[in-house]
Amino acid sequence: MGKPTRLVIFGRQGAGKGTQCLRLVERYGVVHISTGDMLRAERAADTKLGRDAGRIMDAGGLVGDDIMIPVAKNRIAAADVVSAGFVLDGFPRTTDQAEGLFAALGDERLHAVINLDVPLDEVTTRMKARGRGDDTDEAIAQRLALYEKETQPVLDWFEERGLLVPVDGLGTEEEVTDRLISAVDRTLTADGDDA
Ligand code: AMP
Repeated sequence: MGKPTRLVIFGRQGAGKGTQCLRLVERYGVVHISTGDMLRAERAADTKLGRDAGRIMDAGGLVGDDIMIPVAKNRIAAADVVSAGFVLDGFPRTTDQAEGLFAALGDERLHAVINLDVPLDEVTTRMKARGRGDDTDEAIAQRLALYEKETQPVLDWFEERGLLVPVDGLGTEEEVTDRLISAVDRTLTADGDDA
């Protein structure tokens, strides 16, 4: 097996991040780590973490860094993730979490931080077309605005470190996957003898 690939992916709701994560898992053999999924699993299992996080999730807030950083660190340190690599989805959401991620990785390089970019008006159209009960125009606009506010400083943080890779998320799923893979492959070959 090849060397483990370590990725982070950002994207607005409706940008197709879920589908593209599956494609990255297939292509690079990485483990998909979604902190949102992890918290929902804790919640379903009715653990203390799940109950504490659940209240915050319902209120539309962010679970504290004191909780989230150890949760993510533990997952990243697990044997399967160390050997296979990962695509992190939903983490980091704050610059402190980004620092925590770097600390957890130590000498291991993060290969790319992908920003799967679909313009605001397009994701809005897609989310309206999905027509879920909680998707009122106002709720959609609010969620997207919150994402913007939350995410921009973290994107800037990675940009400053030369890790941010913008990928155009418009087009068919296959087109986006092709772009994504070319972008990631470039970052892998840029540093061929990375351990
Ligand atoms: P997601 O599925 O990634 O949108 O996550 C669902 C919810 O879980 C978020 O709205 C937050 O309340 C919480 N959450 C997930 N990941 C994080 C994180 N890295 N930091 C703080 N809260 C998080």
